[in-house]
Amino acid sequence: MDEAWLDISILKCPNCGKIYADASWYVVVMESDIECNICGNIFNTTRNLIDRVLLRISIEGNRVKDVEIGGRPEE
Ligand SMILES: [Zn+2]
Repeated sequence: MDEAWLDISILKCPNCGKIYADASWYVVVMESDIECNICGNIFNTTRNLIDRVLLRISIEGNRVKDVEIGGRPEE
């Protein structure tokens, strides 16, 4: 079994409360703005970050078998 890791950030639209998941490099490094596809509000991802976790992705035979929380970057 192989594994891969993905650092993801959870964001919340400040206008309607819709929750999004995005790659952390896009949120924390690029500090990008995104447009909410529910209400159309454009907001900054970094300022609306509510959680950040590392996902551990288990790979078997070049296929994703399982995904779980592997930790938090600040721990
Ligand atoms: Zn919204």
